[in-house]
Amino acid sequence: MSNILKHAEKELQCFECETGTYKDITVNYFSQLSLDRSCVTEDVTIQRCDTCDAEIIDSKASQMIESNIERNFPGYYDKWKTKNKSRL
Ligand SMILES: [Zn+2]
Repeated sequence: MSNILKHAEKELQCFECETGTYKDITVNYFSQLSLDRSCVTEDVTIQRCDTCDAEIIDSKASQMIESNIERNFPGYYDKWKTKNKSRL
């Protein structure tokens, strides 16, 4: 009984459609890195609206995705950082 109440408190109204609520969902998250490179991170828990399918990736999930990309494509984020530096 108390478990159900606790869970209900966590419900968050959707920013997109304002009628749905976000539900935790565990997915294999697909990231398109560039035209010919992509990366799938398994078992990432994100929040998805039960009405319009809008998705929220919290900081824990995005960390999981980033570290998985870094593992599969070492230096991917370093390269990105370098790109953002001003050219000499
Ligand atoms: Zn929604």
